[in-house]
Amino acid sequence: MRAIVLASRPVGTPSRENFEMVEVDGEKEKLRAGQVRLRPRWFSVDPYMRGRMNDVPSYIPPFRVGEPITSEAIAEVIESTTEGLSTGDLVRAHLAWQEESVLDARFATKISSDPGMSPTYYLGAMGMPGLTAYVGLFTVGHLREGDVVFISGAAGAVGSIAGQIAKTQGNFVIGSAGSDTKIDELKQLGFDAVFNYKKSAPKDALRSLAPNGIDLYFDNVGGDHLEAAIGSLRNFGRVSLCGAISQYNSTGPTPGPRNFEGNVIRKRLEVRGFIVSDHQDERVAFERDMAGWISSGKVKVLETIYEGFSSLPDAFLGLFSGSNNGKMLVAL
Ligand code: NDP
Repeated sequence: MRAIVLASRPVGTPSRENFEMVEVDGEKEKLRAGQVRLRPRWFSVDPYMRGRMNDVPSYIPPFRVGEPITSEAIAEVIESTTEGLSTGDLVRAHLAWQEESVLDARFATKISSDPGMSPTYYLGAMGMPGLTAYVGLFTVGHLREGDVVFISGAAGAVGSIAGQIAKTQGNFVIGSAGSDTKIDELKQLGFDAVFNYKKSAPKDALRSLAPNGIDLYFDNVGGDHLEAAIGSLRNFGRVSLCGAISQYNSTGPTPGPRNFEGNVIRKRLEVRGFIVSDHQDERVAFERDMAGWISSGKVKVLETIYEGFSSLPDAFLGLFSGSNNGKMLVAL
């Protein structure tokens, strides 16, 4: 059986050299009571995994050199010693990057097979990135009807869902992304105004797209996007700090927004970071709302799916060069 391990810790932007495909030998592990043998069908790759490649304390422990990378997956049960799960069931679980895994069944969540809902949605729109968009807008960002909302990384897994949720609430939504193709896609999703940040500086774009300012900034990117949004926020505006992908491969201290304190005080801004795993209690309401938006066509799901186990590193690296539209996944 093949596995992909962390070969070395990256300095700056990660590359294929940081990953190694290995053969895991040995006999098939016998299942104890309450366990399942799983064959992953789709793996998720996510930006937070970049942080786990560094040997630094964080809200989630680092990967270990020489051990398999792990990420969320949809897997098929191929053997079971638990009552709740049978062969052929699909589950969502956090799994090692290997072709088979044995897991205590309590760590696997069976996913429903609703018509019109692909199993892959449970890694994206119906899963962690969707919940992140939901919490970041409502709980952290206090989204209100009529808000002018700016979302960076708008064509990604979180951003594309956040923008569409904000549209369901009657907001004017501005999105930024890094290619013209993505910009066209965002228009089709219903974003009111969009810009390619590789062609227009966020500060200039916001000045022309939101001449009267914005009320809520959903930050997926950090850096110059955050600085521009802080400059553009109206009095009592809010910033939902979700991620800062423009900084994840930095090798030195990252520059803060130069206009932070004066604006936050003068405009009485609320700036709040969050980690989605603290918000599991919102999952039921989120899944109900998201299922409704998807089935009514108000939220469309974008996915980029790489093929084959060996493409896992490339899919992960592609997050940092923008090769995904919507949720980045690998099908096995
Ligand atoms: P995405 O699907 O958005 O994929 C990453 C995207 O980031 C790329 O497609 C690329 O799009 C963009 N990007 C990459 N490098 C840069 C750069 N230097 N400057 C600007 N944009 C860049 O990922 P997710 O939706 O999964 O995650 C989005 C953000 O949300 C990340 O920052 C992530 O860490 C964060 N997050 C936070 C969570 C939390 O609990 N707080 C939970 C989940 C995600 P483009 O072509 O537009 O550049």
